[in-house]
Amino acid sequence: MFTDNVSITVIAGKGGNGKLSFRSRHGQAKGGPDGGDGGHGGNVVMRADSNNSTLAKFRSAKLWKADNGIDGGSNERRGKNAEDLVLTVLPGTSVYGDGILLADLVADGDEVVVAHGGRGGYGNAHFTSSTRQAPKFAELGEPGELKELQLELKLVADVGLVGLPNAGKSTLLSVISNARPQIADYPFTTLVPNLGVVDMDGQTFLMADIPGLIEGAAEGKGLGDEFLRHVERTKVLVHLIDASSEDALGAYTTIQNELKHYRVDLSILPQILVLNKIDMLQDEQVASLRAALAKQVGVKADQIFAISAVAKKNLDALLRQVLVVVQQENQRRADVAEPDEAELPVIRLSDNDEMWHVVRQDDGSFLVTGASIEGFARRTNFDQWQAKDRLIDILKKRGVLREIRRQGGDEGVTVKIAGKSFVW
Ligand code: GDP
Ligand code: MG
Repeated sequence: MFTDNVSITVIAGKGGNGKLSFRSRHGQAKGGPDGGDGGHGGNVVMRADSNNSTLAKFRSAKLWKADNGIDGGSNERRGKNAEDLVLTVLPGTSVYGDGILLADLVADGDEVVVAHGGRGGYGNAHFTSSTRQAPKFAELGEPGELKELQLELKLVADVGLVGLPNAGKSTLLSVISNARPQIADYPFTTLVPNLGVVDMDGQTFLMADIPGLIEGAAEGKGLGDEFLRHVERTKVLVHLIDASSEDALGAYTTIQNELKHYRVDLSILPQILVLNKIDMLQDEQVASLRAALAKQVGVKADQIFAISAVAKKNLDALLRQVLVVVQQENQRRADVAEPDEAELPVIRLSDNDEMWHVVRQDDGSFLVTGASIEGFARRTNFDQWQAKDRLIDILKKRGVLREIRRQGGDEGVTVKIAGKSFVW
């Protein structure tokens, strides 16, 4: 059973602390403030890169952390920003955080910031003003975001191989693969039996063998649905029918119904019809079955391929045709595509950063929430009284203190914000 889902934890880098310092010159009294700002923590970025391997590296290492920003120094020296940590995944990987889709990394180079690095804190030099010539406080760097992510790889297989059990799908794929060792080298180790890179006339395409497509699979019964998730993005279907079975025409209809009733209608995809196992039939039987199927489907008989996977008969002709249809489909999609169709929207929950809320707690304290205001609190070093005064000043300017008063609080109450708590 293949696995193509993996959960990881990512932590962006913490911002560097701002420096609290004053110029000192030999033989002189204390000079002005010269504490530099901290650098920003590194983001964690996910990027699609087809040269990259599987999700396997995320199975052995679950925790990925970007570097922290460097603390500010004296002499107004700014700490360096940390580099982003770039995690590469295969195109076709969807990134979820808490069950919410953050991004679909479809094409090479698509990327998304999955955890933002913490802001660096300001050094005390930053706070110098006409009324505050010797600020004795500096900001702390903000912690980086921590996210639990679920990665789901949807194969971007060009070609999906469908058909009833025993039609010969696995055999066909393995035969193609035996003839062309590149297939075995494809890095989806857990998927090797089900996925192959077919190399034909110097062109390649990715073919997925979709086993377990049974009645009911469209409603998610059985294994079919697990595998069919991979088919959602295929461009062309190869529909394999066991020519030696009692009811080859019925087999066609069964699969066609499954495709139609899958959660996206797969029956609209270009489809190449293939009768397999013709080594078990007389030539005349093949011809009449071909004619009957062509009539039922409404195509010409010569549009239906007749092969033997086991005897390796007519395989090259089939693969050539698959390649032609894949290329036609690529061209058609390029022609109709909106300029940025490939760029699926990156969904992010971003309410207004400046918004805040005050909620009175049972113990008489006041909980203050809001992205921007919490950021200030996180950067506040409560060991420095001036830093705390500054935070209170900001709470005042933004109307937070007025709201606390309105809810019955006053100086002396405990304020809780961003996991910290202090007395107003
Ligand atoms: P799948 O369920 O569609 O993956 O089918 P398999 O590839 O597992 O094949 C089912 C059975 O049909 C196996 O016993 C294969 O050896 C046999 N088979 C597949 N292709 C051919 C063929 O071209 N000729 C004959 N005679 N048997 C075949
Ligand atoms: Mg099979």
